[in-house]
Amino acid sequence: MIIFGKGQNMIYFDNAATTAPIEQVKKAVAEAMEDFGNPSSLHGLGLTAQQKVSYARKIISGALGVTDQELFFTSGATESNNTAIFGAANSLGKRKPKIVVSSVEHPSVAEPCSVLEERGFEVVRVHPRENEHGERVFFAEDFVREVDDRTCLVTMMLCNNETGAVLPVAEVFRRVKKLHPDTLTHCDAVQAFMKLPVKAKKLNADMISVSGHKVHALKGIGGLYVRKGVHLPSLVFGGGQERGFRSGTESVPLIAAFGAAVEQLSANLDERYKHVSELSSYLRSQIAEAHPNILFNSPDGASPYVNSIAVKWLRSEVLLHYLEKREIYVSSGSACSKGKKSSVLGEFGVPDELADSTLRISFSYMNQVNEVNTLLAALDDAGRELVSK
Ligand code: PMP
Repeated sequence: MIIFGKGQNMIYFDNAATTAPIEQVKKAVAEAMEDFGNPSSLHGLGLTAQQKVSYARKIISGALGVTDQELFFTSGATESNNTAIFGAANSLGKRKPKIVVSSVEHPSVAEPCSVLEERGFEVVRVHPRENEHGERVFFAEDFVREVDDRTCLVTMMLCNNETGAVLPVAEVFRRVKKLHPDTLTHCDAVQAFMKLPVKAKKLNADMISVSGHKVHALKGIGGLYVRKGVHLPSLVFGGGQERGFRSGTESVPLIAAFGAAVEQLSANLDERYKHVSELSSYLRSQIAEAHPNILFNSPDGASPYVNSIAVKWLRSEVLLHYLEKREIYVSSGSACSKGKKSSVLGEFGVPDELADSTLRISFSYMNQVNEVNTLLAALDDAGRELVSK
C-alpha cells in the first residue's frame, strides 16, 4: 500500500498489528458523530443511533453465519477472549475445572488461562509436533485426547498472529462436541476474520472472537459470538446494554465503522485472498531463488496474510529500524509481545538464534508486488551494510 498525499511513500507490511481504516470506515465514523444520540434514548436521535448499531450487528453476524442475537459488541478481541474464557469458567468451572488450549495463543487467551490455573483450574497446553516433512504442526487428536468430562472449555486460535499457521479448529471442535457436547468451544479468529472463511457452524464453535482494527475498521471495537443456548454469565454489569450481557453505552462510531469495513470486505473475500496469496508466493519464491541469507519460517498451508521470515546474521530490531528509515514498516515477531520475548516461534521449531532475526511481513489486499521487491532489495542492502560493520 503506497499512501500518497501525506508527503510519504510508505510501504506498510504490519497489517497483523493493525490495518489502515478504509474510506467507508471514515465516512461511517463521520456520520455516526453527526447522529450522536445514545442508542438507549427513546427519541429520534436515539433511534437513529440504535439503527446504526443494529445494521452493523446484522452485517457482522451475517459474515460469521450467525444470527444478530448471537453477536455482542466488546471493546476489542482482548475483551472478547477474556469474556469467553472467564465466562466458560464461571458457568461450568465448578463441575468442570479443566481447560484445553493451544501453546501458541495470543496473550489475551494465554493469560486468562494462566490466571485460572493460579485459581486451581487444570490447564492443558497442547503443543505442535513434527509432521512427516519435519514441520511442527498441530494434530487434532492431540487436543481431543486431552478433553474429558471435566473440561469446561477448549480454546484455540484459527490463524496464528506470528507465523500465519492455521490450526485444525473445525476438526478439533467437531470431535470434541461429539464426545463431550457440554464442553464449550471458543475460537480466537482475529487474524482469520475477513481473510479466511470463518463460519461459526463450519468451525463447530460456541464462541468466536473478532476485532475491528484488524479488518480496516478502528481500534477499541470487537465482537464476541455466543451460540444461542450457551449461557455465559456477564462480567460487566450496569445499564443492561447488549441485551444485558455487556453493559455500557455502545460506541456507535466504532460499531458503525466495524460494520462498514465488514460490509465492504465481504464483497471480495476470494479476490483479496487470491491477490495476497500471489504476494506471499512471490515473496517465498524470491527468497528461495535469490536470497540465501533469508529463511521463510511460516509453515506450508499458513495464511498468506502473515509471513514470518528470518534474515541470518541480523537482529530483527536493527532490521526493523533500518527498514523504517526507508519507510518500510514491518514487525519483529509479534507486535503484541513488545519488549517481551515470545515463545511462539520456538513452539513452531524456529531456533532461538533465528527467532532473534525474525521479521513478520503481514500483508493486506492493498499491498503490491513492487513493494515486495522494494523490501527484498532493502534487506539485501541491510545485509551488505550492516553485517560487514
Ligand atoms: N488475538 C489475536 C490473534 C491478535 O492478533 C490480537 C491483536 N494483536 C488480539 C487477539 C487482540 O485484539 P485487540 O487488539 O482487538 O484487543
